[in-house]
Amino acid sequence: MTHETYLENIKTLNKYSYYYYVLDDPITTDEVYDKLYHEVLEYEEKNPEKLQKDSPTQRVGDIVSEGFNKAAHLSRMWSLEDLFNSEDLEKWLDKTAKLSENISFYCEPKFDGASLNLIYENGELKQAITRGDGVIGEDITQNAKTIRSIPLSISYKKRLEIRGEVVIFKDEFEKINLQRSKEGESLFANPRNAAAGSLRQLDSRITSSRNLVFLPYGIGENELEQPLLSERMAFVYDLGFRRPPLRSLAKGFDEIEEIYKEMVDKRDSFDMMLDGMVIKVNQIEAQEEMGYTVKNPRWSSAYKFPAVEKITTIKEIILQVGRSGAVTPVAVVEPTPIEGVVVERASLHNFDEIDRKDIRIGDKVIILRSGDVIPKIIKVLTQDRTTQVPYIRPTHCPVCHCELLDEGALTKCQNLQCSSRVVNSIIYFASKPCLNIDGLGDKIVERLFEEGLIKSVIDLYDLNLEQLLALDGFKEKKSKNLIASIEASKGKECWRFINGMGIEHIGEVASKYLCENFGLAFTSATKEKLLSIDGIGEEMAESFLEFIRVNEVYIQRLQAALEPKEPTAKVEAEENPFKGKTVVLTGSMSESRGNIKTMLESLGAKVSGSVSKKTDFVIYGEDAGSKYDKAVSLGVEVITEVYMRERIKSL
Ligand code: NAD
Repeated sequence: MTHETYLENIKTLNKYSYYYYVLDDPITTDEVYDKLYHEVLEYEEKNPEKLQKDSPTQRVGDIVSEGFNKAAHLSRMWSLEDLFNSEDLEKWLDKTAKLSENISFYCEPKFDGASLNLIYENGELKQAITRGDGVIGEDITQNAKTIRSIPLSISYKKRLEIRGEVVIFKDEFEKINLQRSKEGESLFANPRNAAAGSLRQLDSRITSSRNLVFLPYGIGENELEQPLLSERMAFVYDLGFRRPPLRSLAKGFDEIEEIYKEMVDKRDSFDMMLDGMVIKVNQIEAQEEMGYTVKNPRWSSAYKFPAVEKITTIKEIILQVGRSGAVTPVAVVEPTPIEGVVVERASLHNFDEIDRKDIRIGDKVIILRSGDVIPKIIKVLTQDRTTQVPYIRPTHCPVCHCELLDEGALTKCQNLQCSSRVVNSIIYFASKPCLNIDGLGDKIVERLFEEGLIKSVIDLYDLNLEQLLALDGFKEKKSKNLIASIEASKGKECWRFINGMGIEHIGEVASKYLCENFGLAFTSATKEKLLSIDGIGEEMAESFLEFIRVNEVYIQRLQAALEPKEPTAKVEAEENPFKGKTVVLTGSMSESRGNIKTMLESLGAKVSGSVSKKTDFVIYGEDAGSKYDKAVSLGVEVITEVYMRERIKSL
C-alpha cells in the first residue's frame, strides 16, 4: 500500500463510519469495512511514523452527532479487538498469557446493536449516554427510560456505571419493517441499524414503540469488590437486568473454541442478532494489570462469527404469484456463499420497496442471510451503479396475463383460475402442516395441473392409476404410491383439513383452536363464539366467516371426499421434539403463555410450572429470571421461543 492509498483508505473508512454510526444507514458490509481496516492497521504497524491521527485505528468508531446534548462518561468506553479465526485466537491467548498468569475467561455472546452506558446514583437511573467517541456520547436518558429492561431504580446505592447493548429482536425488526413498508417509509437495513436508529430518536414516543431490549455486558466506574468479572456480572443481573444467554467460563483455547462453536450453531435460534463471541479475562486484578491500547482493553476480544451480509449483483428480477394472488418480486443474484449456503435468490418484499430503494437489474447490492430470515436485499450500492434503466413494475400477471390490481405495497392477480394461484394452493394443501400427502411435491402438482388432470384440490380424489401411468416418467411404483398417499389423506384430523383450505389469517395454530372448539361443525361457528376463543382475533374471525360464506358448497364437497376425523377428547400428537417432554415456560413471550402452553400440549408436551432435574426443556422469552438460571445450573436444555417455533415449523 502506498502512502497515498493509505490516506485514501482512511477517508473511505471514515466515510463508511459516518453512514454506519451517524445515519444508521451503512453503505457497505462489515466484512468489507473490516478487511480495509485491517489493511490500514497492517500499514501502520509497518510504518508507525506515518500514522495519521484521524485513522479509525486510533479512536473508538462512533461519531457524536448533533441533535442531542453531549455528555461525558464517568470512565471510558472501549471498542474490542477482532479475532476472525482459530489462529487469531491462539495469538491473542499467547499475548494475554504473557501479560498475566493464571487467568481464565468469561465468554458471552456479542450482541449486534448499539452500546449504551447507564449511570446510577443513589439507586436511581441518572443518565443514559451512547458510546460516542468513548469519552463523550449523546445524552439519551429520556429514550432509555422507555426501555422496559432498563431498571429505573436499583437496590444498590453507590455510584455505578452499567454498560450494555441495546438490541431489537429479529421478529420485532421484521414487524417494524413490514409496518414501514405499508406506510411507504424506507426500511431499516438490519436489526442493528433499527436498534441504533430507534435509540437515537428525538421523540421518545417512537423509541418507546420499538420494543428495544437492553443486555448488560460490563461495568464502568464502580466500587464493587468481587474479584471476578463473572461474580460482578451476576451481581448486576440480580439488580434486575436481563441475563444474556450462553454465558460460560473457559480455561483456555479448547474450551473457548468449544463454546464458540456452540454459539455459532445456536446463533440463528436467538431472538437477537449476534455477530460474535466476546472473550474477557475473568480476574479483575489481571484486567487492571493488562490495561488498554488506544482503543481496546487488552483483556478482552471479539471472536467474530462468519459474515451474514455480502455484496452481490442482481442478474434478474422474477415474479412469483402466491396462492392468495399476491405477486412478489424476487431478485436472482450472482450466486454468493453465505455461511455455507449458496444464495441465488433474495426477496424484494414488494414493488413499492423496489421503487423506494430504486433497485435496478445489474445493481451491486448488500444481501443479508441469517437463519430464519429469508435472504433479502438490504441496500443498493448506488455509488457503484452502471445501469441507467429503472425497473418498471408489471401491469399484468406474469402467469395468466390478467390485469393486476395495484394496491401500492400489495400487487394482486385477481383471477381465481390463475394457474399459479391454483397450483400453489394445491401444493399448500398437500404440504406437511396440512394434509401431508407424501410424494405430492411442487413438481408433481405442476405436472398434473399442466396435463389437465387436476384443476383444484378436489380433483386429486378422482385421480386413478391409469391416468398416472399414461404420463411420461410415471412408473407403476411411483403412481401406486401417489394414489395410496392421496387415499391416506382421507380421514385425517379436522384441523389439517381446515388449515389445508388456506384461509387468509388462519394458520396451523388457529386451525387447531377451531377444530378443538367446533370439531367438524366448524362451518356453523358464529362470530361471537369465535371471538371468545383465546388466540382468535377480529381479523381472523372475519376472514374465516367470509371464507365459509363464499365457499360453502366447495367445503361440503371436499369434506365429503376427505371425511376428516371428528377430534377425540385429545388429539394424539404426531412425532415431534416436544412429544412426551416436560417443558417449562419462562419470561414474556410474543403471545400469551397460555396460548403457547395450549400449542405445546397439542404437540403432546407436559407443561410444568417449575424446573427440576426431570425438566426436558426450559423455553424462555424476554426478562427470563430464576427459572432460566435454575435450568442452567441443573444442566437442563434452555431454548428460545424463536427456536421452539422453528422446531415446530420444521415438522
Ligand atoms: P465492535 O464490533 O468492534 O465491538 C465493540 C462493541 O461491541 C462494544 O462497544 C459493544 O457495544 C459491543 N458489544 C456487544 N456485546 C458485547 C459484550 N458481550 N461485551 C462487550 N462488548 C459488547 O464495535 P465498534 O468499535 O463499534 O465497531 C467496529 C465494527 O463495526 C467493525 O468491526 C465493523 O464490522 C463495524 N462497522 C461497519 C461499518 C460499515 O460500513 N459496514 C462501518 C463502521 C464500523
